[in-house]
Amino acid sequence: MTRTGADYLAALKDDRRVFLDGAPVGDIAHHPAFAPVAATIAELFDRAADPAAGFLRTDPDTGATVNRLFVAPRSREDLTAFRESATAWARHTHGWVGRSPDHVGAFAAAFAAHPEAFDERFADNVTAFRERVARDSLYVSYAIIPPQVSRASTAHDWDGDLIQVGIAEERADGIVVRGAQMLATGGAVADEIFVSCIKPLGPEDTDFALGFVVPVGAAGLKLYCRRPYAPAATSSYDYPLTTRYDETDALLVFEDVFIPWDRVFVHRDVAGLRKQFFDTGAHVLGNWQAQIRFAVKLQFLAGIARKVAAVNQVDRLPGVVEKLGELASLASLVESAVLAAEYTSEPDAQGLWRPGARALYGAMGLQAELYPRVLAILRDLVGGGVLQVPSSVADLTSPVTRPDIDRYVQSPDTPAAERVKLFKLAWDAVGSEFAGRHHQYEMFYAGAPFVVKGYAFRNYGFDGPLAEVEDFLAGYGVPA
Ligand SMILES: Cc1cc2nc3c(=O)[nH]c(=O)nc-3n(C[C@H](O)[C@H](O)[C@H](O)COP(=O)(O)OP(=O)(O)OC[C@H]3O[C@@H](n4cnc5c(N)ncnc54)[C@H](O)[C@@H]3O)c2cc1C
Repeated sequence: MTRTGADYLAALKDDRRVFLDGAPVGDIAHHPAFAPVAATIAELFDRAADPAAGFLRTDPDTGATVNRLFVAPRSREDLTAFRESATAWARHTHGWVGRSPDHVGAFAAAFAAHPEAFDERFADNVTAFRERVARDSLYVSYAIIPPQVSRASTAHDWDGDLIQVGIAEERADGIVVRGAQMLATGGAVADEIFVSCIKPLGPEDTDFALGFVVPVGAAGLKLYCRRPYAPAATSSYDYPLTTRYDETDALLVFEDVFIPWDRVFVHRDVAGLRKQFFDTGAHVLGNWQAQIRFAVKLQFLAGIARKVAAVNQVDRLPGVVEKLGELASLASLVESAVLAAEYTSEPDAQGLWRPGARALYGAMGLQAELYPRVLAILRDLVGGGVLQVPSSVADLTSPVTRPDIDRYVQSPDTPAAERVKLFKLAWDAVGSEFAGRHHQYEMFYAGAPFVVKGYAFRNYGFDGPLAEVEDFLAGYGVPA
């Protein structure tokens, strides 16, 4: 029996300290800022627990029945089934929940496929972690970027005592950590948080060269959330995305948090940080999941654009067809990259079936331009229609205002209530505060654009194209 949504919601009642507006909030599962997204995550767990939905498989390491998204793919068929399940989860949120439990779940699965990439003291910890995530269907979020203090220096150079989370004390039974990490999306509603550092550190940064996992309710851990958008939303009719999918992002502050040794993966090991993400295949598998989700989101945005154009009766105009065609091309590119990464997948030395890095990072390298372009096309198509809407659904329920809305905010074959609903959805996708946060998310979730383009550069495989050009150049010269 895998975990249900009700089990997940019940587990949120712990000692977690999540701060909003200067004070800790209690009972996350019922707080207006967190209840909506927690309910969405609960739906994902219910979906996965349904034997008819295709998520369940036997865990080859434990024999338990678990969600396949928490098991390392060990064949092409496994990888295809992983994609299908990740797509099904993404489809449930239409791609608007970036850090659903399969994201860090994929990292955990790849870590465990490569215990040799970790110091031998910690190898069993990563396999036990993966088994626990699978057995208990844990929702793990992550915080792997240092706080934005200075990007010209690293943590050892920063004034003050342990600004980036680092080791405050070594004990026989574990470490005590102090400091902060930049952001954990979904952290407030997760079970546990994986904390590490993917930004390169130097030899003087060993105090900060850590990888560990911590329960959100651990003593001394504080989460400072950015302003949540769901509480200000007037209704799900007015803000259909904000009211379901506002994941919240939180700065993590560790006030002397004890981490027992069995939750530590990397300890004072700068090189080990890179190995953990890249030698294990975790970065490829986790980011492939992210592209699967992104492809679903682009399809949803394409659907909104197509429907808006039809409602406004411009969808047969050549100029509009061109815009919709560009949108279709952009969405198809991401879908194709997901499939190309699967097509070019191969087993690594430990049998983990890795999506092809060239196709994956190629798509990721364009994401910071592609997503804003998609939003620009949608903004272009909706025009002022997203503002020619009543201030809230109350104008549709009030007999005083409804007749005017019915008469003046309609389109042929689309009564006012349907038209307003569509354009409010479009606004929540391109213009609301939630939409603005998503714009930033898609540009930065996998690293700043220059970092992600660096992955594309390193994984393209320039040797072949270079050799081809050298050959070509060698075939002619200055005439004698
Ligand atoms: C909505 C959202 C959710 C997030 N969720 C998570 C999460 O769940 N977990 C997590 O760990 N992180 C999360 N992040 C953080 C994310 O990983 C970082 O934003 C990302 O790694 C980039 O780091 P940064 O924001 O500090 O940008 P910086 O590294 O400060 O870069 C910002 C800009 O400065 C310039 N710049 C900086 N350095 C250079 C350089 N060396 N060369 C050229 N240009 C440079 C570039 O213009 C760059 O785009 C999230 C971010 C966002 C926006």
